[in-house]
Amino acid sequence: MKSTMQSPPLLISSLLEYGTTVHAESRCITWTPEGGREVTYSEIGRQCRQLANALRDMGIDGDNRVATFMWNNAEHLVAYLAVPSMGAVLHPLNIRLFPEQLIYTANHGGSEVVVVDNTLAEPFSKLLEHLPKIRHVIVNGPVDDGVREALGAPAHVEAVHDWNELLAGRSDEFEWPKDVDENDSSSMCYTSGTTGNPKGVAYSHRSNYIHAMSCCLTLALTPSDTALVVVPLFHANAWGYPYTAMLAGDNLLMPDRFLQPEPLARMIEKWRVTVGAGVPTIWNGLLQHLDAKGGDMSSCRMLMSGGAACPPALMKAFERYDVEIIQGWGMTETSPVASLAFPPGRLEEGGDEYWKYRASQGRIMGGVEARIMGPDGSVQPWDGESVGEVEVRGPWITGSYYSNGSEAEGELADMASKFDDGWLRTGDVGSMTYDGYILLSDRAKDVIKSGGEWISSVDLENHLMAHPAVLEASVIGVPDDKWGERPLAAVVIKDGESVEMEQLRDFLSGRVARWQVPERWAIIDEVPKTSVGKYDKKALRSRFAEGGLD
Ligand code: ADP
Repeated sequence: MKSTMQSPPLLISSLLEYGTTVHAESRCITWTPEGGREVTYSEIGRQCRQLANALRDMGIDGDNRVATFMWNNAEHLVAYLAVPSMGAVLHPLNIRLFPEQLIYTANHGGSEVVVVDNTLAEPFSKLLEHLPKIRHVIVNGPVDDGVREALGAPAHVEAVHDWNELLAGRSDEFEWPKDVDENDSSSMCYTSGTTGNPKGVAYSHRSNYIHAMSCCLTLALTPSDTALVVVPLFHANAWGYPYTAMLAGDNLLMPDRFLQPEPLARMIEKWRVTVGAGVPTIWNGLLQHLDAKGGDMSSCRMLMSGGAACPPALMKAFERYDVEIIQGWGMTETSPVASLAFPPGRLEEGGDEYWKYRASQGRIMGGVEARIMGPDGSVQPWDGESVGEVEVRGPWITGSYYSNGSEAEGELADMASKFDDGWLRTGDVGSMTYDGYILLSDRAKDVIKSGGEWISSVDLENHLMAHPAVLEASVIGVPDDKWGERPLAAVVIKDGESVEMEQLRDFLSGRVARWQVPERWAIIDEVPKTSVGKYDKKALRSRFAEGGLD
């Protein structure tokens, strides 16, 4: 029997229309050294319609792609919403990738128009000659004549526009097309490509819509919230924040290029932030600042941490400010939020069991299925102990990587190998509790294989981060003649503290099995970070290929 229900397509334009009318008075705030500029969602809606008219005049329609090269700000939000709403595809470029990777992803994505922040226009102009598909460049903010000239120099660039001038004269009426298929792509992001070329994920209107609904529900966002979006809009689908804001009406605070702990603390205080979103290194930096200089965190109910394992010591330290760090897990491929670590209601706050759940990667969200695949290819029980690779599937999990037909056979095979009978192979290793929480031990490529046994690098890092003198700790496997691989701990010591490696070794000995304690140590100034602020273990591995200081 067929249902009697209506089935309008789930489109980004519906989210946009809802958010900019029902939540017309909610605001997007972009941080500036003067304290920030505010734009209502109603005004965001108006600018979306003006931008859509401008893009239509440039020939952007249906399947065309529009790229951004921007920090988190109101104009980036406008592009995020307007481009998919008009039926085209948004491709936010990761401004921090190496030039070769940027050129690869931009060309592979195939955008014809790009919106660039004025503060990034000069570096972008150097890439442009390698991006032959780009016909129009829109610059957000004033640039001097030299930069403007450089942007317009390549023969394939038809025109360079100023955002304000482009929108100023435009009609603010635009009929969002309703005949867009909800399964068509609305936007795309690339993984950072630790091996080979970055891989493209093309989100659909439907996947973004359902992901946003699920995130709103789980995070309990309302118009009384102000969400500080530190996670870049170009990374992992911005964790869905532009879309959840349209549904929930929470205000968005965009830090622009001011991502250092001091301005972050100031903006949290000034705009009474209730929720934050960022990688653990951001929250660790904020904590050091708060501890040293103080600050008002009283408005903040939750900092969402994802992208890398959040050390429990960091979560516990934030309890001093009465702020809960809630860990989420996901990937570019999973839209990205697939699980969130709100602990089960049955547990009393503070006990070991409670902290086991708080430190987990979280309860799988309703709609996502997860399973653990053992090394022998058999599905493992959800018993919190049986370990294997985490595999997921569901309406906001990618079923393949985007191919534009340019890939070599080996590359296609590599792309296909990330899927297992309809399930996404995440490359993350861990177990599941009986009640659906993921307990990750490591990324498959970071697990240290020592004499046939596995050592979790994350486990060692979490323990080291609990030492009062340690600011950052990253553990990698280095070749060892006897054991195959042994752990090397690279540690950053807090300013004004000192600690001997012997003391750190003793500290670990009481917490992990003796054979897991690293013999090799290195004291470094800073753990290298990836383009999105995670510990860059690839860089560490090449630095310490020969082993560290004993
Ligand atoms: P990449 O880091 O490869 O550029 P993503 O940002 O998509 O790409 O990262 C996804 C990966 O980040 C996951 O597969 C996992 O290894 C790691 N990750 C994400 N969230 C967490 C978390 N809460 N705990 C541990 N690892 C995480």
